[in-house]
Amino acid sequence: MKKVPTLQDFLDGFKNQDRTLLGRAITLVESTHADHQKLAQELLTSLLPQTGKSKRLGISGTPGVGKSTFIEAFGKHLTSQGKKVAVLAVDPTSQVSGGSILGDKTRMNELAVDPLAFIRPSPSGETLGGVARRTRESLLLCEAFGFDYVLVETVGVGQSETTVAQMVDIFVMLLQPGAGDDLQGIKRGILEMVDMVVVTKGDGENHKIIQKAKHDYQKALEILRHDSGYIPSVLSCSALTKAGLPEVGAAIEKFLSSRGKKILERRNDQNVEWMWSLVFEGLEKALHEKVSPAEIEKAKQEIMEHTTTAPLAAEKILKLFKS
Ligand code: GDP
Repeated sequence: MKKVPTLQDFLDGFKNQDRTLLGRAITLVESTHADHQKLAQELLTSLLPQTGKSKRLGISGTPGVGKSTFIEAFGKHLTSQGKKVAVLAVDPTSQVSGGSILGDKTRMNELAVDPLAFIRPSPSGETLGGVARRTRESLLLCEAFGFDYVLVETVGVGQSETTVAQMVDIFVMLLQPGAGDDLQGIKRGILEMVDMVVVTKGDGENHKIIQKAKHDYQKALEILRHDSGYIPSVLSCSALTKAGLPEVGAAIEKFLSSRGKKILERRNDQNVEWMWSLVFEGLEKALHEKVSPAEIEKAKQEIMEHTTTAPLAAEKILKLFKS
Protein backbone atom coordinates (compact mmCIF):
# COMPACT_ATOMS: atom_id res chain seq x y z
CA MET A 1 0.00 0.00 0.00
CA LYS A 2 1.16 3.54 -0.68
CA LYS A 3 1.54 5.83 2.32
CA VAL A 4 -1.56 5.20 4.37
CA PRO A 5 -3.83 8.23 4.78
CA THR A 6 -4.48 9.37 8.34
CA LEU A 7 -7.80 8.99 10.09
CA GLN A 8 -8.52 12.65 9.36
CA ASP A 9 -7.62 12.18 5.66
CA PHE A 10 -10.17 9.39 5.46
CA LEU A 11 -12.86 11.35 7.29
CA ASP A 12 -12.28 14.39 5.05
CA GLY A 13 -12.30 12.15 2.00
CA PHE A 14 -15.64 10.67 3.00
CA LYS A 15 -17.06 14.13 3.62
CA ASN A 16 -15.88 15.26 0.18
CA GLN A 17 -17.22 12.15 -1.54
CA ASP A 18 -13.73 11.17 -2.67
CA ARG A 19 -14.05 7.70 -4.26
CA THR A 20 -10.31 7.12 -4.13
CA LEU A 21 -10.41 7.36 -0.36
CA LEU A 22 -13.39 5.01 -0.16
CA GLY A 23 -11.38 2.51 -2.21
CA ARG A 24 -8.37 2.98 0.04
CA ALA A 25 -10.52 2.63 3.16
CA ILE A 26 -11.74 -0.73 1.86
CA THR A 27 -8.15 -1.73 1.12
CA LEU A 28 -7.38 -0.76 4.72
CA VAL A 29 -10.09 -3.00 6.20
CA GLU A 30 -8.94 -5.80 3.92
CA SER A 31 -5.34 -5.52 5.09
CA THR A 32 -4.13 -8.03 7.64
CA HIS A 33 -1.34 -5.69 8.80
CA ALA A 34 -1.84 -4.92 12.51
CA ASP A 35 -1.38 -1.13 12.09
CA HIS A 36 -3.85 -1.06 9.22
CA GLN A 37 -6.34 -3.08 11.25
CA LYS A 38 -6.04 -0.67 14.14
CA LEU A 39 -6.62 2.36 11.90
CA ALA A 40 -9.46 0.53 10.14
CA GLN A 41 -11.22 -0.03 13.46
CA GLU A 42 -10.72 3.62 14.43
CA LEU A 43 -12.14 4.70 11.09
CA LEU A 44 -15.14 2.37 11.40
CA THR A 45 -15.82 3.59 14.92
CA SER A 46 -15.68 7.23 13.79
CA LEU A 47 -17.99 6.51 10.87
CA LEU A 48 -20.44 4.34 12.78
CA PRO A 49 -22.98 7.14 13.39
CA GLN A 50 -23.23 7.61 9.62
CA THR A 51 -23.92 3.95 8.87
CA GLY A 52 -27.19 2.07 8.73
CA LYS A 53 -28.95 4.19 6.15
CA SER A 54 -28.46 2.06 3.03
CA LYS A 55 -30.71 -0.70 1.81
CA ARG A 56 -28.70 -3.89 1.95
CA LEU A 57 -29.45 -6.38 -0.80
CA GLY A 58 -27.93 -9.84 -1.18
CA ILE A 59 -27.92 -11.35 -4.67
CA SER A 60 -27.01 -14.95 -5.20
CA GLY A 61 -27.13 -17.57 -7.89
CA THR A 62 -24.97 -20.18 -9.53
CA PRO A 63 -22.42 -19.15 -12.18
CA GLY A 64 -24.12 -18.44 -15.50
CA VAL A 65 -27.54 -17.64 -14.01
CA GLY A 66 -27.05 -13.99 -15.01
CA LYS A 67 -25.92 -12.30 -11.79
CA SER A 68 -23.55 -9.76 -13.26
CA THR A 69 -25.89 -8.91 -16.14
CA PHE A 70 -28.75 -8.52 -13.65
CA ILE A 71 -26.71 -6.40 -11.23
CA GLU A 72 -25.58 -4.17 -14.07
CA ALA A 73 -29.15 -3.70 -15.37
CA PHE A 74 -30.69 -3.37 -11.93
CA GLY A 75 -27.91 -1.04 -10.79
CA LYS A 76 -28.50 1.16 -13.84
CA HIS A 77 -32.23 1.08 -13.12
CA LEU A 78 -31.46 2.46 -9.66
CA THR A 79 -28.89 5.04 -10.74
CA SER A 80 -31.31 6.28 -13.45
CA GLN A 81 -33.53 7.28 -10.53
CA GLY A 82 -30.63 9.18 -8.99
CA LYS A 83 -29.87 6.48 -6.42
CA LYS A 84 -26.30 5.78 -5.41
CA VAL A 85 -25.36 2.10 -5.66
CA ALA A 86 -22.37 0.18 -4.31
CA VAL A 87 -21.69 -3.39 -5.38
CA LEU A 88 -19.57 -5.69 -3.21
CA ALA A 89 -18.90 -9.38 -3.65
CA VAL A 90 -18.36 -12.39 -1.45
CA ASP A 91 -16.47 -14.99 -3.38
CA PRO A 92 -14.37 -17.36 -1.30
CA THR A 93 -13.12 -19.01 -4.49
CA SER A 94 -11.42 -15.82 -5.63
CA GLN A 95 -8.28 -16.90 -3.79
CA VAL A 96 -8.11 -19.94 -6.05
CA SER A 97 -9.18 -18.49 -9.36
CA GLY A 98 -7.78 -15.02 -8.85
CA GLY A 99 -11.23 -13.50 -8.78
CA SER A 100 -13.99 -15.46 -10.43
CA ILE A 101 -16.69 -12.91 -9.73
CA LEU A 102 -16.31 -9.21 -10.10
CA GLY A 103 -12.56 -9.56 -10.39
CA ASP A 104 -12.95 -9.42 -14.11
CA LYS A 105 -13.14 -5.79 -15.17
CA THR A 106 -15.07 -6.66 -18.31
CA ARG A 107 -18.11 -7.40 -16.19
CA MET A 108 -20.59 -4.61 -15.50
CA ASN A 109 -18.94 -2.24 -17.95
CA GLU A 110 -21.67 0.35 -17.88
CA LEU A 111 -22.20 0.34 -14.15
CA ALA A 112 -18.44 0.51 -13.57
CA VAL A 113 -18.27 3.92 -15.25
CA ASP A 114 -21.53 5.25 -13.78
CA PRO A 115 -20.68 8.16 -11.47
CA LEU A 116 -23.42 7.06 -9.07
CA ALA A 117 -22.07 3.51 -8.80
CA PHE A 118 -19.09 1.94 -7.07
CA ILE A 119 -17.99 -1.64 -7.73
CA ARG A 120 -15.54 -3.55 -5.61
CA PRO A 121 -14.43 -7.15 -6.19
CA SER A 122 -14.34 -9.76 -3.46
CA PRO A 123 -11.38 -9.59 -1.10
CA SER A 124 -9.08 -12.44 -2.06
CA GLY A 125 -6.62 -14.69 -0.30
CA GLU A 126 -8.96 -15.22 2.63
CA THR A 127 -11.10 -17.92 4.13
CA LEU A 128 -14.86 -17.42 3.89
CA GLY A 129 -14.82 -16.09 7.46
CA GLY A 130 -12.19 -13.55 6.49
CA VAL A 131 -14.02 -12.53 3.32
CA ALA A 132 -17.25 -12.14 5.30
CA ARG A 133 -15.62 -9.96 7.91
CA ARG A 134 -13.99 -7.65 5.36
CA THR A 135 -17.20 -7.43 3.32
CA ARG A 136 -19.26 -6.52 6.40
CA GLU A 137 -16.79 -3.77 7.18
CA SER A 138 -16.71 -2.58 3.56
CA LEU A 139 -20.51 -2.50 3.62
CA LEU A 140 -20.38 -0.15 6.61
CA LEU A 141 -17.86 2.04 4.79
CA CYS A 142 -20.15 2.23 1.75
CA GLU A 143 -23.06 3.15 4.00
CA ALA A 144 -21.08 5.89 5.70
CA PHE A 145 -20.08 7.15 2.26
CA GLY A 146 -23.76 7.63 1.53
CA PHE A 147 -24.81 4.91 -0.89
CA ASP A 148 -28.56 4.37 -1.03
CA TYR A 149 -28.15 0.70 -1.91
CA VAL A 150 -25.39 -1.77 -1.19
CA LEU A 151 -25.65 -4.89 -3.33
CA VAL A 152 -23.67 -7.89 -2.13
CA GLU A 153 -23.19 -10.51 -4.80
CA THR A 154 -22.29 -14.10 -4.10
CA VAL A 155 -21.87 -17.37 -5.95
CA GLY A 156 -23.60 -20.51 -4.83
CA VAL A 157 -20.47 -22.00 -3.35
CA GLY A 158 -20.29 -23.64 0.05
CA GLN A 159 -21.45 -21.44 2.87
CA SER A 160 -21.08 -18.15 1.04
CA GLU A 161 -24.84 -17.71 0.58
CA THR A 162 -25.52 -18.15 4.29
CA THR A 163 -22.79 -15.64 4.98
CA VAL A 164 -24.33 -13.05 2.67
CA ALA A 165 -27.88 -13.71 3.90
CA GLN A 166 -26.54 -12.83 7.35
CA MET A 167 -25.43 -9.35 6.32
CA VAL A 168 -28.34 -8.07 4.23
CA ASP A 169 -31.93 -6.86 4.64
CA ILE A 170 -33.23 -8.86 1.72
CA PHE A 171 -31.69 -11.96 0.19
CA VAL A 172 -32.59 -12.42 -3.47
CA MET A 173 -31.93 -15.69 -5.27
CA LEU A 174 -31.62 -15.68 -9.05
CA LEU A 175 -32.74 -18.87 -10.75
CA GLN A 176 -32.54 -20.06 -14.33
CA PRO A 177 -35.67 -20.70 -16.32
CA GLY A 178 -36.00 -24.34 -17.27
CA ALA A 179 -33.17 -25.44 -15.03
CA GLY A 180 -35.20 -28.51 -14.19
CA ASP A 181 -38.89 -28.91 -13.47
CA ASP A 182 -38.37 -28.84 -9.74
CA LEU A 183 -35.94 -27.43 -7.25
CA GLN A 184 -33.80 -30.54 -7.14
CA GLY A 185 -30.53 -28.80 -7.75
CA ILE A 186 -31.03 -26.14 -5.10
CA LYS A 187 -29.93 -26.75 -1.58
CA ARG A 188 -32.89 -26.79 0.73
CA GLY A 189 -31.15 -24.69 3.34
CA ILE A 190 -30.75 -21.87 0.85
CA LEU A 191 -34.42 -21.78 -0.05
CA GLU A 192 -35.14 -21.43 3.65
CA MET A 193 -33.11 -18.21 3.70
CA VAL A 194 -34.33 -16.50 0.54
CA ASP A 195 -36.66 -13.52 0.72
CA MET A 196 -37.33 -13.34 -3.00
CA VAL A 197 -36.71 -15.39 -6.11
CA VAL A 198 -36.10 -13.82 -9.50
CA VAL A 199 -36.17 -16.01 -12.59
CA THR A 200 -33.64 -14.58 -15.03
CA LYS A 201 -33.50 -14.33 -18.83
CA GLY A 202 -37.21 -13.59 -19.27
CA ASP A 203 -36.96 -12.70 -22.93
CA GLY A 204 -37.00 -14.12 -26.46
CA GLU A 205 -38.44 -17.59 -26.74
CA ASN A 206 -38.42 -18.12 -23.03
CA HIS A 207 -41.94 -16.91 -22.19
CA LYS A 208 -43.59 -20.30 -21.64
CA ILE A 209 -40.60 -21.78 -19.84
CA ILE A 210 -40.48 -18.72 -17.56
CA GLN A 211 -44.14 -18.97 -16.62
CA LYS A 212 -43.70 -22.64 -15.81
CA ALA A 213 -40.52 -22.03 -13.82
CA LYS A 214 -42.19 -19.26 -11.81
CA HIS A 215 -45.18 -21.46 -11.08
CA ASP A 216 -43.01 -24.42 -10.04
CA TYR A 217 -40.70 -22.34 -7.86
CA GLN A 218 -43.65 -20.60 -6.21
CA LYS A 219 -45.35 -23.93 -5.44
CA ALA A 220 -42.14 -25.40 -4.08
CA LEU A 221 -41.62 -22.38 -1.82
CA GLU A 222 -45.20 -22.56 -0.57
CA ILE A 223 -44.62 -26.14 0.51
CA LEU A 224 -41.18 -25.56 1.95
CA ARG A 225 -41.95 -22.31 3.75
CA HIS A 226 -45.58 -22.87 4.74
CA ASP A 227 -44.84 -22.49 8.43
CA SER A 228 -42.20 -19.77 8.20
CA GLY A 229 -44.74 -16.92 8.25
CA TYR A 230 -43.48 -15.54 4.96
CA ILE A 231 -43.60 -17.08 1.51
CA PRO A 232 -41.08 -15.44 -0.81
CA SER A 233 -42.48 -14.05 -4.07
CA VAL A 234 -41.20 -15.33 -7.37
CA LEU A 235 -40.71 -12.73 -10.10
CA SER A 236 -39.03 -12.76 -13.46
CA CYS A 237 -37.17 -10.24 -15.54
CA SER A 238 -34.81 -9.81 -18.42
CA ALA A 239 -31.57 -8.01 -17.86
CA LEU A 240 -31.23 -7.68 -21.63
CA THR A 241 -34.61 -6.13 -22.54
CA LYS A 242 -35.12 -4.72 -19.00
CA ALA A 243 -38.63 -6.21 -18.99
CA GLY A 244 -39.74 -6.86 -15.41
CA LEU A 245 -36.86 -4.93 -13.84
CA PRO A 246 -39.03 -2.07 -12.47
CA GLU A 247 -41.35 -4.70 -10.98
CA VAL A 248 -38.42 -6.41 -9.28
CA GLY A 249 -37.34 -3.02 -7.92
CA ALA A 250 -40.86 -2.29 -6.67
CA ALA A 251 -41.16 -5.74 -5.04
CA ILE A 252 -37.85 -5.20 -3.21
CA GLU A 253 -39.04 -1.79 -1.96
CA LYS A 254 -42.34 -3.30 -0.88
CA PHE A 255 -40.58 -6.10 1.01
CA LEU A 256 -38.33 -3.63 2.82
CA SER A 257 -41.07 -1.15 3.71
CA SER A 258 -43.48 -3.88 4.81
CA ARG A 259 -40.84 -5.18 7.21
CA GLY A 260 -40.53 -1.82 8.95
CA LYS A 261 -38.90 -2.26 12.34
CA LYS A 262 -38.18 -5.92 11.62
CA ILE A 263 -35.29 -4.81 9.40
CA LEU A 264 -33.66 -3.16 12.41
CA GLU A 265 -34.23 -6.26 14.52
CA ARG A 266 -32.71 -8.36 11.74
CA ARG A 267 -29.66 -6.09 11.62
CA ASN A 268 -29.29 -6.22 15.39
CA ASP A 269 -29.48 -10.02 15.36
CA GLN A 270 -26.94 -10.08 12.55
CA ASN A 271 -24.59 -7.84 14.52
CA VAL A 272 -24.83 -10.04 17.60
CA GLU A 273 -24.13 -13.09 15.41
CA TRP A 274 -21.20 -11.22 13.89
CA MET A 275 -19.84 -10.49 17.37
CA TRP A 276 -20.06 -14.16 18.34
CA SER A 277 -18.42 -15.32 15.16
CA LEU A 278 -15.52 -12.94 15.89
CA VAL A 279 -15.35 -14.17 19.49
CA PHE A 280 -15.18 -17.81 18.34
CA GLU A 281 -12.65 -16.92 15.67
CA GLY A 282 -10.53 -15.17 18.30
CA LEU A 283 -10.84 -18.06 20.73
CA GLU A 284 -9.75 -20.53 18.09
CA LYS A 285 -6.75 -18.39 17.22
CA ALA A 286 -5.86 -18.01 20.91
CA LEU A 287 -6.15 -21.76 21.40
CA HIS A 288 -3.73 -22.47 18.58
CA GLU A 289 -1.33 -19.91 19.98
CA LYS A 290 -1.45 -21.50 23.42
CA VAL A 291 -1.64 -25.21 22.66
CA SER A 292 1.16 -26.53 20.51
CA PRO A 293 0.44 -28.45 17.29
CA ALA A 294 2.31 -31.39 18.87
CA GLU A 295 -0.18 -31.53 21.77
CA ILE A 296 -3.10 -31.43 19.36
CA GLU A 297 -1.52 -34.12 17.20
CA LYS A 298 -0.96 -36.25 20.29
CA ALA A 299 -4.62 -35.96 21.27
CA LYS A 300 -5.69 -36.92 17.74
CA GLN A 301 -3.41 -39.96 17.79
CA GLU A 302 -4.80 -41.12 21.12
CA ILE A 303 -8.34 -40.89 19.76
CA MET A 304 -7.38 -42.86 16.67
CA GLU A 305 -5.59 -45.50 18.74
CA HIS A 306 -8.62 -45.72 21.04
CA THR A 307 -6.52 -44.96 24.08
CA THR A 308 -8.75 -42.02 24.95
CA THR A 309 -12.22 -40.73 24.16
CA ALA A 310 -12.99 -37.52 22.29
CA PRO A 311 -14.45 -35.84 25.43
CA LEU A 312 -11.33 -36.69 27.45
CA ALA A 313 -9.03 -35.46 24.68
CA ALA A 314 -11.07 -32.24 24.42
CA GLU A 315 -10.85 -31.77 28.18
CA LYS A 316 -7.10 -32.13 28.03
CA ILE A 317 -6.74 -29.56 25.25
CA LEU A 318 -9.01 -27.12 27.09
CA LYS A 319 -7.00 -27.60 30.25
CA LEU A 320 -3.80 -26.74 28.39
CA PHE A 321 -5.55 -23.69 26.91
CA LYS A 322 -6.76 -22.45 30.28
CA SER A 323 -3.56 -23.19 32.16
P1 GDP B 1 -23.21 -14.89 -13.80
O1 GDP B 1 -22.14 -15.90 -13.98
O2 GDP B 1 -24.29 -15.39 -12.92
O3 GDP B 1 -22.70 -13.55 -13.39
O4 GDP B 1 -23.92 -14.73 -15.23
P2 GDP B 1 -23.72 -13.63 -16.37
O5 GDP B 1 -24.38 -12.37 -15.99
O6 GDP B 1 -22.28 -13.59 -16.74
O7 GDP B 1 -24.59 -14.24 -17.54
C1 GDP B 1 -24.36 -15.54 -18.07
C2 GDP B 1 -24.88 -15.60 -19.49
O8 GDP B 1 -26.29 -15.39 -19.51
C3 GDP B 1 -24.28 -14.54 -20.41
O9 GDP B 1 -24.02 -15.12 -21.66
C4 GDP B 1 -25.37 -13.49 -20.50
O10 GDP B 1 -25.32 -12.78 -21.72
C5 GDP B 1 -26.63 -14.32 -20.40
N1 GDP B 1 -27.72 -13.53 -19.82
C6 GDP B 1 -27.69 -12.85 -18.65
N2 GDP B 1 -28.87 -12.20 -18.45
C7 GDP B 1 -29.64 -12.48 -19.51
C8 GDP B 1 -30.99 -12.11 -19.88
O11 GDP B 1 -31.71 -11.37 -19.19
N3 GDP B 1 -31.46 -12.64 -21.05
C9 GDP B 1 -30.72 -13.45 -21.83
N4 GDP B 1 -31.27 -13.92 -22.94
N5 GDP B 1 -29.46 -13.81 -21.51
C10 GDP B 1 -28.93 -13.33 -20.39
